[in-house]
Amino acid sequence: MSEEMSKPVPRPGILDIAAYVPGKEHAPGVARVYKLSSNETPLGASPKAIEAFRAAAANLERYPDGQAIELREAIAAVHGLNPANILCGNGSDELLGLLCHVYLGAGDEAIITEHGFLVYKIQIMGAGATPVTVKEKDATVDVDAILAAVTPKTKMVFIANPGNPTGTYVPVSEIRRLQVALPKNVVLVLDAAYAEYVRRNDYEAGIEIVSSNANVVMTRTFSKVYGLAALRVGWMYAPAEIVDALNRVRGPFNMNSAAISAGAAAIRDQAFVQETVVFNQMWLDKLTSAFEALGLKVTPSVTNFVLIHFPDVDGKRAADADEFLTSRGYILRAVKGYGFANSLRMSIGPEEANRGVIESLGEFLGRKA
Ligand SMILES: *Cc1c(COP(=O)(O)O)cnc(C)c1O
Repeated sequence: MSEEMSKPVPRPGILDIAAYVPGKEHAPGVARVYKLSSNETPLGASPKAIEAFRAAAANLERYPDGQAIELREAIAAVHGLNPANILCGNGSDELLGLLCHVYLGAGDEAIITEHGFLVYKIQIMGAGATPVTVKEKDATVDVDAILAAVTPKTKMVFIANPGNPTGTYVPVSEIRRLQVALPKNVVLVLDAAYAEYVRRNDYEAGIEIVSSNANVVMTRTFSKVYGLAALRVGWMYAPAEIVDALNRVRGPFNMNSAAISAGAAAIRDQAFVQETVVFNQMWLDKLTSAFEALGLKVTPSVTNFVLIHFPDVDGKRAADADEFLTSRGYILRAVKGYGFANSLRMSIGPEEANRGVIESLGEFLGRKA
């Protein structure tokens, strides 16, 4: 009997996928731990979202609304969109997976960028297609590099804007230039997970571009500024034909009822979002200056995290800093898998954690190697 006949064998390519490794959570033996490794908000969710979550407990025997109408309408009202063009997912990760499932197959190529979010590659390979990675420029997505990689096999392009783990962004003029030059059968995915945090006049999450084109989608999440990462709430704004295609293959009850009602309550509370963004901006500036004052290089960020680059000196590298910070209860994210061998990504945390990391890094850099 040949090996293929003796046991179940996954489709070609599946076993080449490196499973996603989430941010660390534990610092063994440390009393007070601050998790700054997954870009979660230090301010939690809106009290109104928490209340809605609690209320959902009263009806656990009922299936959720398979159309997630309450949530889609709340999103549509806040962003001025047609709810028919909104599809909600169990985290935006689910939507990224559905897009690949629907638009990719064996023999197709999908373009991702050098420091792009690892979920894209996993989902592309999961669909049996080939990821094509292009270079970034100064840790920023490079539209010309993407266009140079387009072939007749290209079916999708994934851009995180702003990028993770870089924290950099591409101005809307560049996204438009990319859209115009891409073949019309290529789906351009604009992953705007951090859009709410961006305060730049030349940035747009993608609503305009989706509205006026048949091949562009924007994905968004409630896991970051809305503080609902535990509930898994994402949404996509897309042309009707793309929404229709994804609706045919998604789970009929892909959103649970607590996620639907807490998500709707969270997005209606824009005052809470504003407070979160103001707090974030203050600490983004403070942390960037403090790390630079310590002699570290920081990639300019428009998000709720910073990418910190370490000296190439024995005992002072990112891995050493990671160990030192973890021993003090500060868990950052190693980003080797994203093409930054000597850097750490830090999510902006609560005040005491931010101050603690600044102080600890000062101590780390000052100590004898
Ligand atoms: C955090 C993040 C997401 C959000 O994923 P969810 O599944 O909605 O939690 C999506 N894209 C990027 C680039 C992210 O960093």
